[in-house]
Amino acid sequence: MARIQSTGKCCFCSSTFNKSAMTRHLKSCKEREAKWKSSLENNEKHRTKFFHLLVEGRYLPEYWMHLLVKANITLDKLDTYLRDIWLECCGHLSAFTIEDRTYTFTPFGEYEEKSMRIKLNEVLSPGMKFYYEYDFGTTTHLTLKVISEIELNAKGKFIRIMARNDPPERNCVVCGKPATQVCVHCIREGMGWLCDECAPKHKCGEDMLLPVVNSPRVGKCGYTGD
Ligand SMILES: [Zn+2]
Ligand SMILES: [Zn+2]
Ligand SMILES: [Zn+2]
Ligand SMILES: [Zn+2]
Repeated sequence: MARIQSTGKCCFCSSTFNKSAMTRHLKSCKEREAKWKSSLENNEKHRTKFFHLLVEGRYLPEYWMHLLVKANITLDKLDTYLRDIWLECCGHLSAFTIEDRTYTFTPFGEYEEKSMRIKLNEVLSPGMKFYYEYDFGTTTHLTLKVISEIELNAKGKFIRIMARNDPPERNCVVCGKPATQVCVHCIREGMGWLCDECAPKHKCGEDMLLPVVNSPRVGKCGYTGD
């Protein structure tokens, strides 16, 4: 399959950049600088640490997000956020892997799992790469990188989105028009993308079809993006 060119939008200035340029852009974005500067003014007491995280599909890196996450929240809060924005279909299990340790919601002692109720700043530091899996059947794998650590005004949401990929272009495998639906069965061979016209004629039947959504969980289990 041809490599997909991935672009995305900066949430501060609304400019579009390709994936590799976005990390650099966020460091120098003028709108971002102005916003953070004003939020810090006269606010010495309310400062707290945040992590800049880059989250991407481990095997589908064209899906990515830059997040600003309060460093003292627990992993299970990050888990909930990832489910809400990208992954949740039917309440599957999930796990983080950080430096060869597994963190789950209900840890099994016999596998030496740890609880997700641990603070990010107890297990993460700048430069670290870690992993996340959602659903141990039809798994969606994510890679997360700690880009940097930032001091900011503590008030406000504990997770904020700074940039996100634009929906990647997918073409119907039959006629080449933009795909709108995906066959859960055929996607495993990379052949599941279908347009509105070709979808009803697809051999696997309409029960196997899901909408094309901007998420690394597209075409998996019952994920519709709602
Ligand atoms: Zn920007
Ligand atoms: Zn599911
Ligand atoms: Zn078609
Ligand atoms: Zn099919």
